Amino acid sequence: MAVLPIRVFPDPVLKERAAPVEGVTAEVSAFIDDLLETMRDSPGGVGIAAPQVGVLSRIIVVDVSAHRRGSQEENHGLLVLVNPEILAMGGKQVVREGCMSIPDYTANVQRAQWVLVDALDRDGNRRIIESTGFEAVAIQHEADHLDGILFLDRVMSVKKDLFRRKTYR
Ligand code: ZN
Repeated sequence: MAVLPIRVFPDPVLKERAAPVEGVTAEVSAFIDDLLETMRDSPGGVGIAAPQVGVLSRIIVVDVSAHRRGSQEENHGLLVLVNPEILAMGGKQVVREGCMSIPDYTANVQRAQWVLVDALDRDGNRRIIESTGFEAVAIQHEADHLDGILFLDRVMSVKKDLFRRKTYR
């Protein structure tokens, strides 16, 4: 396993659309281990998407169970989602988001309150996951990375909703 270098905005790879994964092979599985190690290496990290380490594959990892808000709410613990597809979403919430690829800023972003996601797990089995609250935000944020969308693209008012970070937590 290895901690992979994080691509930082405005790296053009962050604006690319990632390709579907054909199957969870041994190679894909080893890459997922590296993604997990990379996420855990970052303080306060609740998720990571493959494009953030320069790999244009539709793989995201989310784990809000150690986060101060995420841990208070119902969550799935570690979620490895391969080829995630949001089947349905609803409600509204505004949450302050950060991103390992945008280390100097946080922003208030409007997201759905809940999502229903279809994905393969790390064993290649199909799973349908219903998620709400902070975990649902993390899933939406990471899934956006697979389509080259950053939270900066979803900020409604740069003046009111974008904040410069003093330190990364
Ligand atoms: Zn991000």
